[in-house]
Amino acid sequence: MIAPAKISADFIVHNLASVVVFPEPYRGQGTVPGWRTEELKNASIASREGVIVWVGPAARLSEEVHVEANARFCNGCGLTAVPGFVDSHTHLVYAGDRSDEFEMRVQGRSYLDILAAGGGILRTTEAIRNLPEDLIFVEALERLEQVMQTGVTTIEIKSGYGLDLENELKMLRVIDRLRDESLMRIVPTFMGAHAIPADRRADPEAFVDEICRVWIPEVARLELAMFNDVFTESKAFSVAQSRRILETGLEHGLRAKIHADEVNVLGGVDLAVELGAVSADHLLMTGAEGIEKLKGSGVIPTVLPGTSTYLMESHHAPARKMIEAGLPLAIASDHNPGSCQFLGATIIQALAMLQLRLSASEALIAGTLHAAHALGFGEQIGAIEPGRRMDLALFPGDSFRQIGYQAGSSRVEALIVGGVVAIDRF
Ligand SMILES: [Zn+2]
Repeated sequence: MIAPAKISADFIVHNLASVVVFPEPYRGQGTVPGWRTEELKNASIASREGVIVWVGPAARLSEEVHVEANARFCNGCGLTAVPGFVDSHTHLVYAGDRSDEFEMRVQGRSYLDILAAGGGILRTTEAIRNLPEDLIFVEALERLEQVMQTGVTTIEIKSGYGLDLENELKMLRVIDRLRDESLMRIVPTFMGAHAIPADRRADPEAFVDEICRVWIPEVARLELAMFNDVFTESKAFSVAQSRRILETGLEHGLRAKIHADEVNVLGGVDLAVELGAVSADHLLMTGAEGIEKLKGSGVIPTVLPGTSTYLMESHHAPARKMIEAGLPLAIASDHNPGSCQFLGATIIQALAMLQLRLSASEALIAGTLHAAHALGFGEQIGAIEPGRRMDLALFPGDSFRQIGYQAGSSRVEALIVGGVVAIDRF
């Protein structure tokens, strides 16, 4: 009898205390089959050319896996492996400091007071326009390195503080350089429609027109973005303006994302469903009707508990209702200089539990697999199973339940991105 051929592997993490798998993964259609996690104890993970080929009990590795001659073999003793976190909504590239606004808000000053004191998005725009590209890059790279320590292997980063073509391209070039420099998987999003700059307020339609006729074609031609995002709010862009901007993006190969229902329910969710947006984000004010519309739409509802906490909102996005409705809820950090300085995945895991009342399993699935779907990579990353990229965050201890519990202080022992060791304390 011929023995069955073994699976070949060139990278092994062996003898892990625990490996977290998702037995009922959302596959990008319909409702979520389940929110369970399973912890495989004393397990190993094998990959080949950056793709997971085997997950199973450590004791069965030698009989089921052929370890290639030059394979890298890591000892996972005392560690828990979770899928690398996916931070699907950030404004990580910026300049300047808005700590005074933070303090004003804590003291009860209104948004209008803060604006009158020169605060808000447009202050960051001024800082971005004044800081040399190299310095913007260096500051963002430092932040990225901190983010990696929290187990993030894939991160989306938006432009949107330049607000003129020259400075939007400057931000996108910085994001592009980060892609070259960092071992993380970085997903660039164009967000020229983040705010209306002061000198364009007199004629917002002309500003929208310029974004559609000039900026989007140029961003697409230079291949500097995968997604096109818009801030649909009464103080930013109307539904009609947002539709035009997102449709223009689609014509140029940029998939749609949308900031919707953060302050007012204007119809951003309807627009996301109509245009097949990859995600609708914030959703603080989304009600039963919006949840019903999202059902089965394929649009990933992405909630940002760091922002609602940072802004001291009286309530948070209706995450539990979304889960009960079977929606593939995702969570992300929304790291930015004004409304959320929480950085990385672990604090967001904690806030998802504390503020949104998610279980540890729900928070983990929302911050990995569903966030991967929010970037269109739901079949490639976000879970530990054969066929997906070897993206692992390895935390000390024998359970992933420590990650949220430790409320942001937990740090990885090792981080693996596509089979490459990015952080190594083995
Ligand atoms: Zn945002």
